[in-house]
Amino acid sequence: MKLICPICGNPLSRINNTAVCPLGHSFDYAASGYLNLNRRQGSAHGDDEQMIKARTRFLESGHYAFLRSALQDTVNSLKPACLADLGCGEGYYTGALDAEEKYGFDLSKTALIHAAKHDHSTQYVLASIFRLPLPDHCLDAALTCFAPCAEDEILRLLKTDGSLIQVTPGRDHLFELKEVLYDTPYRNRTENTLQKLTMTDENVIRSTFTCTQEELNDLFRMTPYAWRTGQEGKKKLQEVSSLQLTAEFIIRTFKR
Ligand SMILES: [Zn+2]
Repeated sequence: MKLICPICGNPLSRINNTAVCPLGHSFDYAASGYLNLNRRQGSAHGDDEQMIKARTRFLESGHYAFLRSALQDTVNSLKPACLADLGCGEGYYTGALDAEEKYGFDLSKTALIHAAKHDHSTQYVLASIFRLPLPDHCLDAALTCFAPCAEDEILRLLKTDGSLIQVTPGRDHLFELKEVLYDTPYRNRTENTLQKLTMTDENVIRSTFTCTQEELNDLFRMTPYAWRTGQEGKKKLQEVSSLQLTAEFIIRTFKR
């Protein structure tokens, strides 16, 4: 195990259901299997329970399975020994990826409980992606999928020849949904915003699918539009019985 103590930075080892460091700091594994290494106990927030349930239902519909397959291919081409998913949510993508040693980090307990119960190939950890309980230069690959990208922390964690895989929304991602919600919908801006890592590959993938009313509601709740949309837009969404949508993702690979 590569995890380090969030208090003193020494290596952790597992003894039964506890992770301990040489100085005696100890952290319990939850019944579901995830490990809480969040230093500020009680300050974890992450995504709320209703949103995570909506996201889980939507992902299980399979509409984003094409992204999961594309990420499997990307990771397979890198053959990482150690991989971490930074902002892993309920582990929908993490669990499908192939590495000898895998970690998933998130601040939502609800998401981690779901992840740990359904995927035993990954050690899930409650911790901030801006301060990860991992030693310097331990990762062959890091994944950040629709999550904020802590570039300095990723630079600290990647091995010399390590890679970052980043997934962001494409220009036309869910444009049809925005056409329902807004009078003047905009296309996404898609330029690379990372400054210190060097991009080595960029791949745009897209799929179109039809969403039922229930799926639309779930999808809406997992997007940033849920808190940007006024009552009028939400009302319009309720009047749509089904909608053909485009999902478009940009998968970028970076090296140090
Ligand atoms: Zn310690």
